[in-house]
Amino acid sequence: MILSWLRGARRPRAVAIDTALWKRVTSPWLFMRGLAEPDRARLHALCERFLGAKRFSGAGELALSGAMRVEIAAQACILVLELGIDWYDGWSDIIVYPAQFMPEREVEDEAGVVHVTRDPMAGEAWLGGPVILSYEDVALAGDRHARVAGYNVVIHEFAHKLDMRNGDANGFPPLHRGMDAREWKRVWSEAFADFTRRAEAAERLPGRRGQAALDALPIDPYAVESAAEFFAVASEAFFETPELLAPAYPAVYEQLRLFYRQDPLARLKPAGGS
Ligand SMILES: [Zn+2]
Repeated sequence: MILSWLRGARRPRAVAIDTALWKRVTSPWLFMRGLAEPDRARLHALCERFLGAKRFSGAGELALSGAMRVEIAAQACILVLELGIDWYDGWSDIIVYPAQFMPEREVEDEAGVVHVTRDPMAGEAWLGGPVILSYEDVALAGDRHARVAGYNVVIHEFAHKLDMRNGDANGFPPLHRGMDAREWKRVWSEAFADFTRRAEAAERLPGRRGQAALDALPIDPYAVESAAEFFAVASEAFFETPELLAPAYPAVYEQLRLFYRQDPLARLKPAGGS
């Protein structure tokens, strides 16, 4: 009783999002396709709690507008629509740069020599720390004319955040009761090996043929970087382009359906069909 009272007292206040702004900002996105009205309303309410719980700041002189915050909140909250906002507990900052940012990093090469690198980044998620985003990339996800259908930096970074609920990002988030950890490992490692083979074969092709083969892959070839990146990229595709992910990797789709407790592919099928 006392505990629940304390929890209630500590809960941050929700920030109201105007309905017209909400509709305008969320309508272009692929992940909103087929989402039923009651689910949209729940997502709206979840975003209001998210805005109350997280601290947004613009970096590099970016003036972060209300619409930008709502855009980021909606993309972040679609992942936890059926899990709850508590899955994002334990950290509070979202830092947004106007475009890709170039953090200075020390990287040790195979010979043990430390180099300072400055690679442009679209987004980053820190264990127990902030999510950092490039707004140019956030906006790109809403551009249906962009070639990169399924590219969504916000879903990507927040998938890492869920993965980090049980330690470093490794493509193995905490599973729900009833999910099978061995099945999860088997499915993901088989798909990762298969996708790596396909992406490497595409990269070996020369010039335009190579580019066409990379473009034809069902998910972003960045997924080959690691098991953690594969999970984050597959999560982008799960919400944005399930019609590409599910036929290519049905077992991965099924594990994501169990994990996120959503079925974005089913939402695309016309109502009343068998
Ligand atoms: Zn990543």
